[in-house]
Amino acid sequence: MELLNNNAELQAWRRQFSPEETVGLIPTMGALHKAHATLFDTARPECDQVVASVFINPLQFERTDDLKAYPRTMEQDLAMLENLKVDAVYLPTPDDMYPSGFATSVDPGDSAVQFEGAARPGHFAGVLTVVLKLFQRCRPTTAYFGQKDAQQLFLVQRMTRDLDLPLTVQACPTLREDDGLAFSSRNARLSKVARQQALVLHQALTAAVAEFQAGDRDPRKLEATMRTFFEDSPAVLAYADVIDEVTFQSAQTSSTSRGHAWRALIAARLEGVHLLDNLLLGNP
Ligand code: AMP
Repeated sequence: MELLNNNAELQAWRRQFSPEETVGLIPTMGALHKAHATLFDTARPECDQVVASVFINPLQFERTDDLKAYPRTMEQDLAMLENLKVDAVYLPTPDDMYPSGFATSVDPGDSAVQFEGAARPGHFAGVLTVVLKLFQRCRPTTAYFGQKDAQQLFLVQRMTRDLDLPLTVQACPTLREDDGLAFSSRNARLSKVARQQALVLHQALTAAVAEFQAGDRDPRKLEATMRTFFEDSPAVLAYADVIDEVTFQSAQTSSTSRGHAWRALIAARLEGVHLLDNLLLGNP
């Protein structure tokens, strides 16, 4: 496995491959866990070359204490990537990514100011800017993103389409613990008690799925069902919304969403840790 410490090393590595060879990119912020491994397991048989990036992107953190608190486990990350048969890891520094004078960024448009973007102005502009730079530098044929971060996935797919980027963005299913909690680097920050209480997110989502499957097509009623799970929970709900997957806007009626699937989104705070999850409802 090659360690590429700056863009020059990345370019030298990338130049070895002909246009016929497929290159898979998996962007990460490190602190790798089992769910990250599934992205690499998907990419490995599909691509001639697999490159990971590990970069805690300062542009997407609006609070410096959040950026400082982000877990850093480089040694374990590299051991895991080696085991996953990754060909190369790009480990840029902030200066390599954003040299002095850097000023341009991607405007993610609407749907970036809702849900995860509501409390974090500039977050998705930061995400899309670094993702676009990673795409330009790594020139992947396919980039792999987790469905767990549904809004991020949507915005990356839309940017790829809108800006004619020559690659495929592949969605990878959310990996969960046996009890339903979605894997996240943030779960490690929860006490044992809060770890159990965090199950409320998945319980609320599965209740919405059950109600949808029973025939309920009123998105506001499905949202109300999800909210009831938080009435007696220490978890503080940030949002519980049913969205149209194609527009990533609040779902309205089955006829305005004709041919578009609905997805239930949820986020809540427990012990100061922001947790998010989502489940597909289906075609209304
Ligand atoms: P991160 O390092 O947290 O930015 O995540 C890197 C990639 O892993 C992103 O595309 C995430 O959506 C994906 N990811 C994180 N957690 C999960 C999960 N539980 N299931 C599937 N993908 C995930």
